[in-house]
Amino acid sequence: MHYVSTRATSASAARNPQGFSDILLGGLAPDGGLYLPAAYPQVTGAELDAWRSLSYADLAYEILRKFATDIPDAELKALTARTYTPEVYRNARAGESSADITPLRVLEEGAAGKLILQGLSNGPTLAFKDMAMQLLGNLFEYILAKNGDALNIFGATSGDTGSAAEYAMRGKRGIRVFMLSPHAKMSAFQTAQMFSLQDPNIFNIAVEGVFDDCQDMVKAVSNDLEFKARHKIGTVNSINWARVVAQVVYYFRGYLKATSSNGQKVSFTVPSGNFGNICAGHIARMMGLPIAKLVVATNENNVLDEFFRTGVYRVRKPAETFHTSSPSMDISKASNFERFVYDLVGRDAERTHALFRKVETHGGFDLSGAPGSDGDEFKRVGEYGFVSGCSTHEDRLNTIREVADDYGITIDTHTADGIKVARAHLEPGIPMIVLETALAAKFNETILEALGTDAERPAGFENIETLPQRFVVMKADVAQVKAYIAEHTGLDR
Ligand SMILES: *Cc1c(COP(=O)(O)O)cnc(C)c1O
Repeated sequence: MHYVSTRATSASAARNPQGFSDILLGGLAPDGGLYLPAAYPQVTGAELDAWRSLSYADLAYEILRKFATDIPDAELKALTARTYTPEVYRNARAGESSADITPLRVLEEGAAGKLILQGLSNGPTLAFKDMAMQLLGNLFEYILAKNGDALNIFGATSGDTGSAAEYAMRGKRGIRVFMLSPHAKMSAFQTAQMFSLQDPNIFNIAVEGVFDDCQDMVKAVSNDLEFKARHKIGTVNSINWARVVAQVVYYFRGYLKATSSNGQKVSFTVPSGNFGNICAGHIARMMGLPIAKLVVATNENNVLDEFFRTGVYRVRKPAETFHTSSPSMDISKASNFERFVYDLVGRDAERTHALFRKVETHGGFDLSGAPGSDGDEFKRVGEYGFVSGCSTHEDRLNTIREVADDYGITIDTHTADGIKVARAHLEPGIPMIVLETALAAKFNETILEALGTDAERPAGFENIETLPQRFVVMKADVAQVKAYIAEHTGLDR
């Protein structure tokens, strides 16, 4: 299995074949594209049948070995066994089993169709990003140990990604994490989750500014190639291929648990921001998993909903990007979207490159086929199963109330966006699986607004805000953060 860039010319792809381990620690391809397998591995009906009885960890092994062909089977099996354990994914609700890792809960089964919730948020930081990030931590540690190397992860977070990365990398040999966050702008719960980590390889830097200031600092450091190389700086952002591929596993798991034979189909609804999660669903479908529809659910930041309704992709300016009560979906452009567009235009890298160059120069592109548009491939979107919808703050409040009243559970705001949109796409005979992307405790402010009571906290999180916190405060100053990194990266091997 080798990997190509969505912007590679056939000559550069032939010159530069990449294995899974080669792209594991990197982000963008050197040509600015995103990595994808040269061809999607296919899954047979016999394999699906055999996988029905596997544990989550063993299923993850079977799927990952199709992609990570340069990691020895025994190593990969040990890695997945270490990652997907009931102890790591222990925050399942009462009545759900942690041993399932991503437990399914049937919410309703009526004339309109069957609605199922798949819990992806039972890991250490209570959001689905743990599903991939925990694996990434173990993969990084394995590769670095093999090469006798070290890595300093540098990133910016407004909440979920930073904490998932820190909990995945804490205590890992050869790895340090430097994470910028806007000082005093995250929720008390999110702040406590990150800053209460006492591991010496975790460095929390609270920047006096907003999230965009943090991101600008990360960009400035990334553009200093000499500094980046000297201090072995890497990232774990949402375009990382290993994160996408780790997410493919739970689509298979959801399908296998919601059906009893391979003649059946299911649909998935995915609360979406950067298109990383649902991109994994697209890949599962391309591998042959019987998925009917992939429903993209957005909040008021409806860049993706607009594309899947009209064929027009138009990124938003900062002033048009709303701060909502499902903040992890507040994006102005969807960083993984290029992976799908590459498939949509028939894996034509030159055309993909031209379209995304137009995003940079003109803020978007139009595949609707209308006069003057950039192409008519939008007419093929249905062949890939994609449909979409969007949801507002009012919808979130109503959905959280309805789900509490009707099914006795509290869902988070992002999952509420998913359920709201999923209801419009139910079909009799095809179970609809909504991915639960966070637990309600993380977004308690909105739960209070909707229900008038606090969200339940999983065991161990009761007093998290009172734990001692470890962080430094810094001005939004690139020179200062570089000095801080340099001072703390006496490479340890
Ligand atoms: C990151 C995140 C999302 C969006 O996922 P993408 O992969 O960016 O589409 C949705 N919900 C929650 C809770 C998240 O943390």
